[in-house]
Amino acid sequence: MPPKQDNTNTLPQGDKNLTKKMAVLTVTKMGNPILRKVSKHIFQKEIETEKFQTFVDDLIETMRDEDGAGIAAPQVGELKRVFIMEVSDNPRYPDKEGFPLFVAVNPEIKPVGEKKVAGWEGCLSIPGIRGKTERCEKVMLKALDRLGKPYEVELSGFAAVVAQHELDHLNGVLFIDTMEDLSLLSFEEEFEKYHYVKA
Ligand SMILES: [Zn+2]
Repeated sequence: MPPKQDNTNTLPQGDKNLTKKMAVLTVTKMGNPILRKVSKHIFQKEIETEKFQTFVDDLIETMRDEDGAGIAAPQVGELKRVFIMEVSDNPRYPDKEGFPLFVAVNPEIKPVGEKKVAGWEGCLSIPGIRGKTERCEKVMLKALDRLGKPYEVELSGFAAVVAQHELDHLNGVLFIDTMEDLSLLSFEEEFEKYHYVKA
């Protein structure tokens, strides 16, 4: 299991706005050109702002509200290189192993080993659809946490898949672009009927 990040502190100590309410943001959907753009590097100076910290809180709130396993900034209309991911008792992914909350600012991902795994993915920006993709089974995620502290963590299984999916969003790539066989693109009902194999 990767080490748990300290994401509990919403704002740096001493800030008076700790009680600020989080907000659920509108998720951009496929067809919105922002999902096809490359997001921009985030500088340390910006990370330290209250605006950015509130944005991270809102991303978390939005992901949880939508039962997403992860969400990237362009999915709420911001071209910034940050994504978050978390799975705990997620009804959209009942058979997937959980992982703690990660905030990944300016993330980089490197494959660990050469093994690939095929699996079904969904996306909050492509609601109601699942598709089969191939991803690296194990990756090294290198990023800054929400307070700008660098970390590196090896991810495998579903966490590795989600990290690769979210990083693609920061480069304007959607999971359907990575599908080798588009005939496997399915609506959720058909996915459950024809493709879903209970673990
Ligand atoms: Zn997505």
